[in-house]
Amino acid sequence: MLHISDIKKFSRCKKLYYLSKKETEPSEYFSFFNINVSIDDSISKKLNIENAYIGVKNDPTERAMEAMNDYDWLKNARFEYEQLRIKVPFMHKVEEGWDLYFSSLQLAPGAEEASTFAFYVTVLKRLGIQVHEVYVVHLNREYIREDVLDDDQLWVVSNFFYNGSGNPSKHILTTIYGITTNMDEVLQQMKEFDFDAELPIEKTSKCTRRNKCMYYDECFPYVEEEPDNSILHLATSKNKFKMYDDGILYLKDADLELVEGTRLQYAQIMADRLGGFFMDKLALKSWFDSISSHSATFLDFEWDTYCIPPYRAMKPLQTLPFQYSIHILQDDNEVIHKEYLGVGDCREELIQQLMKDIPSEGKIFAYNAKGAEALRLQELAVAFPQYEDVINSWINRMEDLSIPFEMGMLYDVRMRGMYSLKVLNKMIHPEHTYQELKVSHGLEAVQIHRMLEHENDEEKIIEYRKQLLEYCAMDTSELLAVYKWLKQLIV
Ligand code: SF4
Repeated sequence: MLHISDIKKFSRCKKLYYLSKKETEPSEYFSFFNINVSIDDSISKKLNIENAYIGVKNDPTERAMEAMNDYDWLKNARFEYEQLRIKVPFMHKVEEGWDLYFSSLQLAPGAEEASTFAFYVTVLKRLGIQVHEVYVVHLNREYIREDVLDDDQLWVVSNFFYNGSGNPSKHILTTIYGITTNMDEVLQQMKEFDFDAELPIEKTSKCTRRNKCMYYDECFPYVEEEPDNSILHLATSKNKFKMYDDGILYLKDADLELVEGTRLQYAQIMADRLGGFFMDKLALKSWFDSISSHSATFLDFEWDTYCIPPYRAMKPLQTLPFQYSIHILQDDNEVIHKEYLGVGDCREELIQQLMKDIPSEGKIFAYNAKGAEALRLQELAVAFPQYEDVINSWINRMEDLSIPFEMGMLYDVRMRGMYSLKVLNKMIHPEHTYQELKVSHGLEAVQIHRMLEHENDEEKIIEYRKQLLEYCAMDTSELLAVYKWLKQLIV
């Protein structure tokens, strides 16, 4: 039995298909997006579906075929052709045949899904089913929730794919017909696939395209084992594997013709040539001078991202910050720690607590500030305009502590091409790492917070809160450590 997901894997990489089929245990799945309501029910309301045939797992094709005579709407109907099994989310009978509706949790779905949709249309066509039109039902970027969720406003039904600017650009069915899927050939190849044959592992853009392949570490374990100054740690390099294969093993020997030439890459190569560490002291000092202030506040948020807005004044795919930690380095070098952790719609409470905890002056440091903490604050200011002035004053005082690393003002080969807080933590004080914590990365924190939201057992609530507070506090104490480390380098 084959599914569309198998075809996607097979088309991306034969090794990926092989590894996924060999897996006996399904890998643990954690959704980055909090899907808090039934997408199926919500779209059914949008499409005004009142009476529908609902397909279930292992339904034979005949059952869906019979239902096509008795119903105008089919949901999750199963069809099979040449061992390829498909589940069509929504089908609607019209005079000229059947309209298909695919759901998308995107704001402006592009044509990347066209080849997948083409398999659905081809299977139905082979079974003699006339497809009249294909729609995608996607989240409405303009929608802002009021007290009650409005399913009609939440979704947009479009028979066009969108371009990069978010405008409808390609008629879906015409795009599908323009694709030569060659389904029979692909299915034949999959049926003949030899699971005992030795498969060559080739590093291509498919391994890291969009999302890094889940089997990357399995296919390329040697990258982890490479020394700190390996050429394979050259950041954002398209040609590092080529150089490696050509016998260039270390950063110091990089072929400059094959290096893109970013400032970080330059710092990496120089660090290796200089024995492991490079610093542009002048640039670092001048950056420090530009951000000098009296007290320094180090801020970190944790947040969850909701597909469907759960509370008033939220949009689809918007985040909800549920926690923060703050370390404040005062003028007298004393350090104060503040923190907050909420559940449910805690946004206003979080803002009010921040107003008490953030000092009235001095810089506010975050890591990747503009792409994270500042964005979270902007969203809060839009949802709660009564606090807009104070929130904007915090944003104006924000500085990004990742800048010196991103801009290649310094590099230590122990960073192995990365500069996340966790990497810096390991390097600056390896005796106290995230590994000691129960929660050791952001997605784990989100997972624990989702459990906390639904927990009633008092002991577990105390334990979850402790784990989350420890993790977030570690982030801001690391920010402070990085700040102090950078500062002593320019003395
Ligand atoms: S890491 Fe690359 S070679 Fe390995 S399975 Fe994934 S796509 Fe295929």
